[in-house]
Amino acid sequence: MTNQRTAPKSSLSRRNFLLKTATGGAALAASSVSSGLERNPVSPSFEGKITPRKPFILTTWDFGPKANELGFPILSSGGSALDAVEAAINYVELLPDEYWVGYGGVPNEIGETTLDAMILWGPTHDVGAVGCLKRVKKAISVARQVMEKTQHSLIVGGDATRFAVRMGFKETSLTNAVSQARWEEWAAKGEQSDAFAPEPFKEDTLNGHDTVGSIALDKAGNLCVGCSTNGREFKIPGRVGDSPIAGAGAYGDQDVGGAVATGNGDVMMRFMPTYHAVELMRQGVSPENACKAAIKRITDRGYKFGGGMAAIRIDGEHGGAQAGWEDEGFSYSIQTKNVATKFPIS
Ligand code: ASP
Repeated sequence: MTNQRTAPKSSLSRRNFLLKTATGGAALAASSVSSGLERNPVSPSFEGKITPRKPFILTTWDFGPKANELGFPILSSGGSALDAVEAAINYVELLPDEYWVGYGGVPNEIGETTLDAMILWGPTHDVGAVGCLKRVKKAISVARQVMEKTQHSLIVGGDATRFAVRMGFKETSLTNAVSQARWEEWAAKGEQSDAFAPEPFKEDTLNGHDTVGSIALDKAGNLCVGCSTNGREFKIPGRVGDSPIAGAGAYGDQDVGGAVATGNGDVMMRFMPTYHAVELMRQGVSPENACKAAIKRITDRGYKFGGGMAAIRIDGEHGGAQAGWEDEGFSYSIQTKNVATKFPIS
């Protein structure tokens, strides 16, 4: 991945190329973390009860620093973590040349871009999410409406669009020149979705994919966690990934902290990795080792997948892990003052 991420020029994305050529990439990454949990089970600063310290915002990938720059002023001026996470994620969703999140990217098998997003508000542990949202750009904001205006937690497909319009969102095409060209190039080859390939026990056969995940704590000590994606390229229409599933794409607990995930969501959602990481942090495992353990649970079952996680406790201690993405440039950024600091995960 590069800083300016646009649609891959060839049908074989860099990510896919790396995954296909790395000899057991995920397994290698897993072996390097195999003893992490045993080696350092408890964070040095963990004393059994975690006390929120100062406001922070964490956002994944290269768009993290800029997204944090938009979210953090909300926190420093006394605003809510909910508003900060929504602002950070909206920024990425609306980037015109961002192919992996929001409109204008990752078309499905029939050339349509659909969105998955979720938001969790710590004080009430309320969740709102949309899956396979069509023709509405701000998926995280629609998810917030699901959370705030209804008792439901997840609304999907054309019905999610209908709900969004009912809540005042504008219906518009999510296709742009980049996603249209990318789909036409792929469709011309007459292939079917790579989702029909065997489960990835030998190799990860995925085309491109990415997600933005964000975690914020406000001055009142309230936590919010959210994520948004357009899923994986050329997915079977109707596919919903891990992002809108609480505990899979993102999870948080007001008394502990939060975790966000990105990667092969079809595999990752089977293991609830963000729930797993938050529960380990509750027991005193450091955020880094909690992420490593959650990923190891997946690779231990034999899956070769590309994926990354980041986690942060309410006292500000943080860490991340990845599998199969040694060279992918996965990172997360944190802002607690004026400038965001980037933490690469290799
Ligand atoms: N987890 C996302 C999905 O499978 C994609 C990604 O984060 O790379 O929908």
